[in-house]
Amino acid sequence: MTESALRQAIVDTARAMNSSGLSPGRSGNVSARSRDGMLITPSGLAYAEMGPDDVVHVGPDGRVAKGQRAPSSEWHFHLAAYGARPDMNAVVHTHSLHATVLACAGHSIPAFHYMVAVAGGDDIPMVPYATFGTPELARHVAGGLRSRKACLLAHHGQVAMGPSLEAALELAHEVEILAEQYWKVRLLGGVKLLPKAEMARVLEKFKSYGRAAQPGLAKRGK
Ligand code: 13P
Ligand code: ZN
Repeated sequence: MTESALRQAIVDTARAMNSSGLSPGRSGNVSARSRDGMLITPSGLAYAEMGPDDVVHVGPDGRVAKGQRAPSSEWHFHLAAYGARPDMNAVVHTHSLHATVLACAGHSIPAFHYMVAVAGGDDIPMVPYATFGTPELARHVAGGLRSRKACLLAHHGQVAMGPSLEAALELAHEVEILAEQYWKVRLLGGVKLLPKAEMARVLEKFKSYGRAAQPGLAKRGK
């Protein structure tokens, strides 16, 4: 993908995140790994006003070339996430309602439903609170994402990663749904969790889930 196409894809993803209600107001941010560093949404700009030229390039050392807007205040944790996960190419951060509610009440998401495995493990962990935009928060996020593709941020929201922008946004939606379901299950009381062995089985099945049954089918776009 060319850099201009990637810039447009970041804007489209950020707008989709906002218009679907996943990230209220100006909250949240989106980035994609680029050839040297990453491209990230600017800080504090309304999504409706954002265009491809507003997307900011940040070097691998955090350097921002002059003449650009200020990058998202969370550029530290986006960069740290790419460092922790060389297999991932996009990061979506949101303050989605139910993920944020759980994260404010101090709850991670355990294996109450098999779909928790969508984040790559048998729970969706919550990382400790640190002030937004700090290297300390970046260290927490990198720790949370080392063995998962998503985590909750205490008193803040959630972060999801993916091999592509589409995948990262889809995972953020999935985390939000799981958070809402878990909240309701907790309200009913008597939460029952799936055993570790069952989650290991689900994780194994997920490795091939959605892949073409016949070799060659996926290549033809079926
Ligand atoms: P930015 O507008 O700087 O990306 O900040 C939004 C946010 O969610 C901070 O955590
Ligand atoms: Zn935030």
